[in-house]
This record gives sequence, C-alpha cells and structure tokens, in this order.
Amino acid sequence: MAENTSTTGVAPEELSDNILITTVDSVYNLARSFSLWPMTFGLACCAIEFIVAGTARYDMSRFGMEVARPSPRQADLLIISGTVTKKMVVPIVRLYNQMAEPRYVISMGACATGGGPFKEGYNVVSGIDKFLPVDVYVPGCPPTPEALIHGFITLHKKFKTQSVRTVPWYRKSYTGETPIPALGPDIIDTNPDALKRVRDVNMTRLMASRAAAAPQISLGDADTIVLRNPGLTADLTGWTLQSSASEQTYHFPAGFVLMSDGEVRVHTGPGATSSSAGDIVWTTEAALGGDGEKISLVNAEGAAVSVIEYEATTA
Ligand code: SF4
Repeated sequence: MAENTSTTGVAPEELSDNILITTVDSVYNLARSFSLWPMTFGLACCAIEFIVAGTARYDMSRFGMEVARPSPRQADLLIISGTVTKKMVVPIVRLYNQMAEPRYVISMGACATGGGPFKEGYNVVSGIDKFLPVDVYVPGCPPTPEALIHGFITLHKKFKTQSVRTVPWYRKSYTGETPIPALGPDIIDTNPDALKRVRDVNMTRLMASRAAAAPQISLGDADTIVLRNPGLTADLTGWTLQSSASEQTYHFPAGFVLMSDGEVRVHTGPGATSSSAGDIVWTTEAALGGDGEKISLVNAEGAAVSVIEYEATTA
C-alpha cells in the first residue's frame, strides 16, 4: 500500500512537478497587471507619444494592453495625455466615472500634471489630480514612449502592493464615483482673491526682472547719446558720463531721477543744445566721437555701468 503523504504536507512524487504554491494576491495582481485596457483617448501632443507606444517599435501589447478600447465601459486605464482645458475636464471626469472598476489614471506630461506651459492660463486646469485620483505621474513635455512604458511598469509595481482582502472596490459601501465639475465658477475661478494672486505673481516677476537691470547708454544720432533705464526708477545723483579720449565728464545734477523704462537724449559737442525739454546737454570742448573713443556711464560708487565705443572711421 502506497504511503499516505497528505498527512505530512508533502505532495505525492508523481505530482511534485505539477504543483505551484502561491498566494491569491499574487495571482490576482498578476492578472490585473497584464490585462489593463487603456481607453482610446488623447488631448494634445502627448497623445502622439501614447499612440507611438502602441506601435511595433515599443509594442505595449507586451503588457497585455494592445486593446485600446473605444468605450469607457470596456476600459480600466485612463491616460490623460495632453493639455486639460476647463471645458474638457467635464467630459473627462464623466468618462472616468463610466469606466470599469478597478480603474486607474496615468497623468502623462507636464500639461496633465500641472498645466505645463499653459499653467495659470485662463482656460487650462493646473493639474488633473484636482479632479481625478491619479495613480502614476509621467513627467516630460512630451514624455517619450519609453517614459510612458515606465509609467505602466510603475503602475504594475503599485498593483503588487495591493491585496484582494483590502482593496476598496469590492466593498458594498464603496463608490468610486467622482463629482463631475460644472463648467462655470467652480472651474473658472472668478474669486477676486485668486485673480489678485495671479496679478501679484506677475507683478513680482516683473519687478524682479527690473530690479536686475540698470540704466544703459547707446549711440543715437550724430552727437547724441541715448540714456535708457530698463530697470526700476533710478536716482542718478552722483552718476557721471565720462569720455575716455578727451577726459571730459558730465555730472548728473543732484536729484536727477530716471523713471523705470524712461529715456533721455544727451546732446554732446562744443555747440550742443537741447531740442526738447528733458534732454541733457553735455557741452564739451571738442567734439566727441573720435576713433575708438569710449563713453562710460559711471555710477555713484565709481563703477562703469555701461560703456559705448565709437566705431573707427574709414579713410
Ligand atoms: S506636456 Fe508638452 S507635449 Fe504634452 S501636451 Fe503639454 S505641451 Fe504638449
């Protein structure tokens, strides 16, 4: 009589090559990982990369994903590939709600994740994750097909951490229904505080760029130098214009203020006269503008802020 091995927990020898012991979770997660069906859905340039991921070169069907479904009822992966406008986010959430559970979302590219180059545009939402639960973010503008495939693999890894005993979607109380935003004030933020915040950000950027700039000089018409201030309003008390060759200096009068984005013309030479109010007259003993002569704008600390050089004249 053959030995009864069932009491010892050892499989009969004739079956030992045919038995695989694993966990329900492993089988469950493996099956879900390699049967994701993405929805045929694209929004902008990133969608082209999504399409390329399905071509023979990248072949996402290796992951059991070759069936991009034209209906949300048959899809369980939503790839947000492109710029999400405030108008489009409404049908996107509606489509998501129509997908089969368990369902997943990949945010593909800078636009979907945070608005991308259009962030804070009047018509673009600054991130789909404000409206849908996102499982994986794929960075890039656009992300390459390889990056998207890396996103798929990252999603597979996420599956491996889940257990059929704890996932929410089989519970009676569970509803994955996501509120559908209404195109209107809840998307287009007309709150004066929000509008003021955008204005403040723009103003801060403008002031920072202007603070980094300083008054500059350039050659104007004959016997004229143009003094321009692309920076913040500048008090030029103590500043000078200096010529290298003739060593003549013009001292700006005390309290001379050049407004932001302001411009004045400096007339030079022995017989210099102003042609309009606000111009500066720099009467020199000899005409400026000889070969290689330099004119420097020097600040109150004695540092040359801007230098121009007269081009050598040809005989
Ligand atoms: S992230 Fe870049 S490539 Fe993708 S939709 Fe936006 S602008 Fe286009």
